[in-house]
Amino acid sequence: MWIDSHCHITADEFQEDRSEVLERAASAGVETMIAIGAGYGLEHNERALELAARDPRLFATVGVHPHDAEQLDDEGRKRLRQWLRGPRVVAVGECGLDYFYMNSPREIQREVFAEQVALAREIDLPVVIHLRDREQDAYRDLMEIWKSEGGGKVEGVLHCYSHDLPFARRAVDAGFHVSFSGILTFKRADELREVAAALPADRLLVETDAPLLSPEGFRGKRNEPARVRSVGEVLARARGRPAEEVARETTENTRRFFRLD
Ligand SMILES: [Zn+2]
Ligand SMILES: [Zn+2]
Repeated sequence: MWIDSHCHITADEFQEDRSEVLERAASAGVETMIAIGAGYGLEHNERALELAARDPRLFATVGVHPHDAEQLDDEGRKRLRQWLRGPRVVAVGECGLDYFYMNSPREIQREVFAEQVALAREIDLPVVIHLRDREQDAYRDLMEIWKSEGGGKVEGVLHCYSHDLPFARRAVDAGFHVSFSGILTFKRADELREVAAALPADRLLVETDAPLLSPEGFRGKRNEPARVRSVGEVLARARGRPAEEVARETTENTRRFFRLD
């Protein structure tokens, strides 16, 4: 059994056949999925809540993606707080810093991320973190904001990890969990597989980030939660462990991190 710790099942790409997609996940042994509310505009948070309320396989997160940081106004802040009180909401996010695409100005990204870390601390929820940069700036800024707003009292997962080993080690030392996506399966991702092999087993999660990032063999196609299995199998191979063991560990880690029980 696997858990997809990060998918955008609210996306329009799943509007036509969402129930079949969820069935295929179940058949592939993916029993639970975390429906990320942020990333497709603020209103998808509400969709994630609605889907999780109707389907016991789904839990929801609520937040503002760094791409959308500039769009957050006071009305949005009010709604965010409301949504976060909803049932089956297990985390704030995905939120963070994306200096690669820079769809919102850096300063605003930092402010909106800091705000959400403070909010997570206030309401006692873990944080799903999106982090991307060509340089080291976003990684440095994360650690700064985490210290000032989280104050050692918030848990975070670095979703879709694709950065280097030194930073992964620093992050694990700072208490973060690390989640791997289909990128881990790409032919040229040897370096990332070395990162995945070197981290402690009790900090690892797997995800699809569907509908994006289909694993090797499905690249260019719409991704779906059933394929988290391919990510997990590659993770197991990279670590030289049986897939069943990695499935059990990542499932336990995910349940503990999001406090699903
Ligand atoms: Zn992301
Ligand atoms: Zn995402």
